[in-house]
Amino acid sequence: MTESLLENSKSIEIFERAKKVLPGGVSSPVRAFGAVGGNPPVIESAQGARIRDVDGNEYLDFVGSWGPLILGHAHPLVTAAIIEAVQKGTTFGAPNPIEVELAECLTATYPGLEKVRFTSSGTEAVMSAIRLARGVTGRDYVVKFAGCYHGHADHLLVQAGSGLVTFGTPSSAGVPKCFADKTLIVDLDDADGFNALMDARGSEIATVIIEPIPANNGLLVQRQEFLELLRKRTTECGALLIFDEVINGFRVAPGGSAELFGITPDLATFGKVIGGGLPVGAFGGKAICMDQLAPLGPVYQAGTLSGNPVAMAAGLATLKELKSCNAWRRLEALGQELDERLAPVLAAAPFPVSFVRVGSIFWFNYQAGEAPRRADGIDPAAAERFKGVFAGLLRRNVAIAPSAYEVGFLSLAHTSEDLEIFVQALESTYQELGA
Ligand SMILES: *Cc1c(COP(=O)(O)O)cnc(C)c1O
Repeated sequence: MTESLLENSKSIEIFERAKKVLPGGVSSPVRAFGAVGGNPPVIESAQGARIRDVDGNEYLDFVGSWGPLILGHAHPLVTAAIIEAVQKGTTFGAPNPIEVELAECLTATYPGLEKVRFTSSGTEAVMSAIRLARGVTGRDYVVKFAGCYHGHADHLLVQAGSGLVTFGTPSSAGVPKCFADKTLIVDLDDADGFNALMDARGSEIATVIIEPIPANNGLLVQRQEFLELLRKRTTECGALLIFDEVINGFRVAPGGSAELFGITPDLATFGKVIGGGLPVGAFGGKAICMDQLAPLGPVYQAGTLSGNPVAMAAGLATLKELKSCNAWRRLEALGQELDERLAPVLAAAPFPVSFVRVGSIFWFNYQAGEAPRRADGIDPAAAERFKGVFAGLLRRNVAIAPSAYEVGFLSLAHTSEDLEIFVQALESTYQELGA
């Protein structure tokens, strides 16, 4: 393989230091490039659709900080809102007007959302929503789908074993077996497995949680009927349906996947886009349910920096800008343009590859046949193929997420020219890999 054309001595030097003081050199595991090999560029700054490393290399960026940056990096309106907020103080530990405004914006936009509570991450939002569902129903069991990621809380770090429905086994050391036992796993797109589980144990189930557009294990687009089945069966047995919209929310449509599918969950969780690049999560639903939270109800949940005014200002500026420019239509148009330009390049690739896209979320499927709808539909050989593509793109100054199972994101900062650069970089990478 061609040697890197990029100068990276400073990145290497800093990453060597990082490894001495940060486990794996990182603050979140996948940043370490473990799945693709090599050293991650250490990033110094970013603007629009471009990130720049400490050696001065500039990359066209489709990672978008893993989802939040739907307006691109350092958007002037978001930056201005942050600066204005910072000058008034960074945290008060008291009610503030911006959290109210952001909550009003969320509830006005997302179907069925009457009240929200803010957290500082998506993980906390999901963790708290699960606790609320358990508190409201007085039941313990959680149903989740194999391959869906809901953050790193104990009872959600559980994936599928084999078989239609299995008791969960933890995906991480440090998760007590007795916690994992409360999480029941079903495969995505498996209506029979889900029905069987609800028939057998429906009355013990507090909540069924799903990413309606699963985007953390490839992009596993679900059938409308499958999501409708979840809505129907949870209602029948008195369990709460949680849509984890941490990636999808305000990205695929103003009302997230709930709007796209026309299905209203009992609770929804948010993060990423609603924080405009600052640490924010939120969960919410009907008032009657949310009022079970402290201080009104018996379910405890809290946070020193929750509703932080600087983070709220960044989120609010982002959502206002999305609405004012009808971002979703522009992102869909950009996505369609990418579909069209990619088609001949994918067709000529020396291995099977297809492009899966929902709005501004995309994923390359490096295997033959229809795009998979469930996690075990992804062939590990596809991940091997991905390594070469990733390295080829990075050498051509195009950054995508360093894992075959991660999606990419378009932002409003991407232009037609950027798409052309991306497609050409892919084309020459594929040619190189086929040679
Ligand atoms: C990113 C993500 C989370 C976790 O959010 P963090 O802010 O990383 O804690 C939860 N659910 C989904 C669907 C996500 O994509």
